[in-house]
Amino acid sequence: MKIAIVGTGYVGLVTGTCLSETGNDVTCVDINKQKVMMMQQGQLPIYEPGLEALFQRNIIHERLRFTDNLAEAIEHAEVIFLALPTPPGGDGSADLSYVLGAAKDIANLITDYKVIVTKSTVPVGTADKVRAVFKQHTDIEIAVVSNPEFLREGVAVEDFMKPDRVVVGTTDERARKLMAELYAPYVRQGNPIIFMDERSSELTKYAANSFLAAKITFMNEIANLCELVGANVDMVRLGVGSDDRIGKRFLFPGIGYGGSCFPKDVQALAKSAEDNDYHFRILNAVMETNAIQKKIMVEKLKKYYNDDLKGRKFAIWGLAFKPETDDIREAPALEIIGELLNEGAQIVAFDPEAANNVKYLLGDKIEYVDDHYDALAGADALLILTEWSIFRNPDFALIQKSLKAKVIFDGRNLYDLDKMTELGFYYNSIGRKTIN
Ligand code: NAD
Repeated sequence: MKIAIVGTGYVGLVTGTCLSETGNDVTCVDINKQKVMMMQQGQLPIYEPGLEALFQRNIIHERLRFTDNLAEAIEHAEVIFLALPTPPGGDGSADLSYVLGAAKDIANLITDYKVIVTKSTVPVGTADKVRAVFKQHTDIEIAVVSNPEFLREGVAVEDFMKPDRVVVGTTDERARKLMAELYAPYVRQGNPIIFMDERSSELTKYAANSFLAAKITFMNEIANLCELVGANVDMVRLGVGSDDRIGKRFLFPGIGYGGSCFPKDVQALAKSAEDNDYHFRILNAVMETNAIQKKIMVEKLKKYYNDDLKGRKFAIWGLAFKPETDDIREAPALEIIGELLNEGAQIVAFDPEAANNVKYLLGDKIEYVDDHYDALAGADALLILTEWSIFRNPDFALIQKSLKAKVIFDGRNLYDLDKMTELGFYYNSIGRKTIN
């Protein structure tokens, strides 16, 4: 099948590459010329495990190409995927200007039937808006499909190649057949392609992300309570998660959810509900609670240092919003760093993949090192903000030798409490007793 992907970010590039892997002919288009040039030269603009091999293979076999020219990308395409940003607008609703702008540009270029697939996360009613844009600019028949993406950064390739489910919202029979054919190789183990109307499909994505955000937030509150009542959230998590109705996944407490999706999607769903005169109470509570959770580590630090962080030096391990990605959008680390700088603290940070993105944002406001142990020299404490595997089993003797004091604030509960007691660290984690 001939396919065009408009927007080659985390979703577009993974979608394009994975669709070329099953033999489709894919052209990806992006307005960022520098990014396009990099990809044309065989370089990946993002870090995503497993993507490199597929990317190189399909470029070599000429099933995957890149352009900054929309007309060239869509000329022969039967299916056009829109994988464009939908950032929060000023009022919290999803900004549809990228999606509708691209729809208009495409409408002005097409000369034959196309299936327009919205992969971006968009509010209910967007398919109708896209259809209206086409109607306004062309007489050519098109079909609009809502096909929300559920991939997770860090395991995006695996998620795309073997999705739990594929959701396809369309009322167009021809588009439905094309989508079924396109996705068949990815659901051979029997996972479903769930067909529905566009509105239900659009809402499914928001409902899924908001539910997960609520699940995490609920556990964060349980963790906070654990600290007050002397319970251990790790034990509570195991006890709770063994119930099939709840499930083991997504129950790890931490320093608040971040990333490019949860914060904006929860906010957009709440706004969308409000626009329909529905006050979605849980979502508002989730947003409020998460904002507080993101401040929890700084609060703990202030308490420990008697409200005086001025001149303190902190080593930070982990900047990305989660491990195995270089994405720092809405990362709790950024908020923590911002607050610590405001308090007059000094920061030396390490992240295996995300440091350059933070450097681009913060410049030399903080110091960056290439090895996690190098961040420790002379620091008052180690702060763990992302649970990269490399931090899980560190050389504690080296940590102890390098830090000014044996103090660790762990936002990801990486270490065993007995071990930290044995080693004599002050160790403060989330939802567990403080070792001191
Ligand atoms: P992104 O910011 O990484 O990528 C968007 C790309 O679109 C950028 O490369 C940008 O240059 C390009 N672009 C902008 N305007 C363009 C135009 N007019 N023509 C061509 N290219 C253009 O975004 P993303 O993380 O890939 O997210 C895209 C959508 O998918 C969003 O709606 C997001 O909510 C949704 N989504 C994201 C994830 C995720 O994990 N990142 C998962 C599921 C769904």
